[in-house]
Amino acid sequence: MNKLSDRLNSLSSSATLAMSQKSGELKAQGVDVINLSVGEPDFNTPDHIKEAAKKAIDENYSKYSPVPGYPALRKAIVGKLKKENGLDYTITQISCSNGAKQCVCNAVLALVNPGDEVVIPAPYWVSYPEMVKLANGKPVFVSAGIDQNFKITPAQLEAVITPKTRAFILCSPSNPTGSVYNKEELAGLANVLIKHPDVIVIADEIYEHINYIGKHYSLAQYPGMKERTVIINGVSKAYAMTGWRIGFMAGPEWIIKGCNKLQGQYTSGPCSVSQKAAEAAYTTSQVEVGKMCKAFERRRDLIVKLAKDVPGFEVNIPEGAFYLFPKCCSYFGKSVNDCTITSAEDLAMFLLNDAHVACVGGTSFGDPECIRMSYATSDENIVEAIRRIKVSLAKLK
Ligand code: PMP
Ligand code: GLU
Repeated sequence: MNKLSDRLNSLSSSATLAMSQKSGELKAQGVDVINLSVGEPDFNTPDHIKEAAKKAIDENYSKYSPVPGYPALRKAIVGKLKKENGLDYTITQISCSNGAKQCVCNAVLALVNPGDEVVIPAPYWVSYPEMVKLANGKPVFVSAGIDQNFKITPAQLEAVITPKTRAFILCSPSNPTGSVYNKEELAGLANVLIKHPDVIVIADEIYEHINYIGKHYSLAQYPGMKERTVIINGVSKAYAMTGWRIGFMAGPEWIIKGCNKLQGQYTSGPCSVSQKAAEAAYTTSQVEVGKMCKAFERRRDLIVKLAKDVPGFEVNIPEGAFYLFPKCCSYFGKSVNDCTITSAEDLAMFLLNDAHVACVGGTSFGDPECIRMSYATSDENIVEAIRRIKVSLAKLK
């Protein structure tokens, strides 16, 4: 009777969304919660993008679009990839979906057969392993701790590739660590991948524009790699458009065609009005993007400075995205009243209940010793959140 499929029963819920929901519920009860759990810009979508959407409504962009998105949007994305990344694509090599999340899932479902292995550097974004599991594939993790700035080495990658490896998912700038692979580090990974032509790279570059170390590099830019790399990107983070749900993938036509077939059966093209807004985002002034990145960088500096001062926290310096991923396992085994902290999840729950600050435990990101904090919030919230965290942590003995 009330029995879900085995596929669903083996799937974990999204820890980021779950924590954000918990924090919302507490807020609704009148508790003054500072939400550092979900990763989304606190800025509003720039006005000129909103205007483009209003115009699209008036111009009756209200019908189904082509499955991979309107040609005009895909043309705008081709232009972005040429101008910003120096990469040549045609519009038939672009497919737009309901956010970058659906793009990653489409790529995984289009490529992975039951039993295929997908290499995922850990820490990872919570949804990658679950998407691989949906495809009945096997996630293979390569761990990089805070001591190596959460970045894997070429030797580590080489060591896990087997004849069963179908794909490699790289997220740079990274959620949840903020680490960014620079030009030389990517070259090292490309040198390994080039020896394994059957491995497809899924390069999640959704945080491309939130990068504090300079130019963004993509694995698709290295010799021989574009032919087997799927770039994932979208408007959610760069343009503060998380709710509009537009992401894109750019890659070899055979993969794009496969994803379009899949998407044609279960969602069709993404929202017509949002597509027109995204087209405006890619074809108009990029000034706002730079301004938002500067604000995130200032907040990064602030939260790093404050978090370094929290006893028992070990902190890296994130180079992009808007997350801090402090190691906090020195609190494991400590207690207050009848509450004992045995994991990062316990610590996150304690901080939510005691400090009214919502963070996410690191286990579902593949590092059970850390917690993730999103600093895409105001300076005041950052200062107050860390103050409260310090007060609460001091109670643990
Ligand atoms: N990839 C990563 C690494 C992310 O953090 C997110 C944020 N949700 C996504 C993909 C999905 O983005 P979108 O909102 O466009 O679906
Ligand atoms: N990417 C964001 C996060 O990691 C949004 C939530 C989600 O889609 O997981 O918090």
